[in-house]
Amino acid sequence: MDKIDIKSLSKRELEGLLAGLGGERYRSGQVCRWLYGRGARSFDEMTDLNARLREKLKAKCRITHVSLLDSKRSHADGTTKYLFKLEDSSSIETVFIPEKSRNTICLSSQVGCKFGCLFCASAPFGFVRNLKVSEMLDEVLFVKAHNPGSRISNIVFMGIGEPFDNYDNVMNAIRALNDKDGFDIGARKITVSTCGIIPAMERFAKEGLQVELSVSLHSADNATRSKIVPVNKKYPLSDLLEACREYVEATNRIITFEYVLIDGVNASEEDAHKLAKLLKGMKCKVNVIAYNQIKAGDYSAPSVEKTALFMRALKGRRIKAMLRKSRGEDIDAGCGQLRISKL
Ligand code: SF4
Repeated sequence: MDKIDIKSLSKRELEGLLAGLGGERYRSGQVCRWLYGRGARSFDEMTDLNARLREKLKAKCRITHVSLLDSKRSHADGTTKYLFKLEDSSSIETVFIPEKSRNTICLSSQVGCKFGCLFCASAPFGFVRNLKVSEMLDEVLFVKAHNPGSRISNIVFMGIGEPFDNYDNVMNAIRALNDKDGFDIGARKITVSTCGIIPAMERFAKEGLQVELSVSLHSADNATRSKIVPVNKKYPLSDLLEACREYVEATNRIITFEYVLIDGVNASEEDAHKLAKLLKGMKCKVNVIAYNQIKAGDYSAPSVEKTALFMRALKGRRIKAMLRKSRGEDIDAGCGQLRISKL
């Protein structure tokens, strides 16, 4: 019989398992602190559990971990990209982004992706499978263990995969990341990024989590957005914006829109005016980022002057917009680029 993947259990499932093994419910907090707080790789390390319970856990469960295939560290800004091998030999990427005021991990949620966005290095290789909860948590555990001096303050689900296409596992991973006995990362410091899966956004609004939502917008023109984010053909811009407004109303939270500037596609002053018109009156902010060239694409970022014009046009119309620096450009840190170089 296959052993239970203990990190994929929710806290309640873990309590049930421990109760079945004759352990008290509060032991689940101890086990979580060992697994996530201290990164234990064996049940023998859990010395404050009695020996009998440890033996039973050993017989019934297993503790997973990811193996490192490759890593690259940016000399420019310290951003580090990891390529991991999973138990079935699939590979995923995780990025560690150290900054003065925070340390962020960008997590993958799937092996590959179905959604085929124009600017994305993961897109050409299609979808393989969803990540398990344990695999997402193992991404964090590895980065934590290899950067002992840096407290992990922020998590973004913006790596390979569409998090809302692996909804239940991502929600369970978020609960473990947020749990005081787990990673103890504040819900507001966790961001889920979607390309605009409307039914999942509606479900997410009802979760009662204080987690941030970020939507990949990339154009205020329906036909152009369908080229950049093909899922727009299924969930068109007008419906998406309505879902965003409903989300803001239901949660009283703001939405962040991601906008990758691609020269000749979505980066003109007129594009900025259209965007400002679309977002008028909504509680939101826009993160603008210049296209990070991937080896799979023929597109390029607009010039510094064109970018400045775009930003000025947005701000002139009172849209809260930030021009984000592309991190780790010297190590191909855009989503899926290390994986692409190995495939
Ligand atoms: S940007 Fe995200 S949703 Fe789009 S193809 Fe890449 S991984 Fe998938």
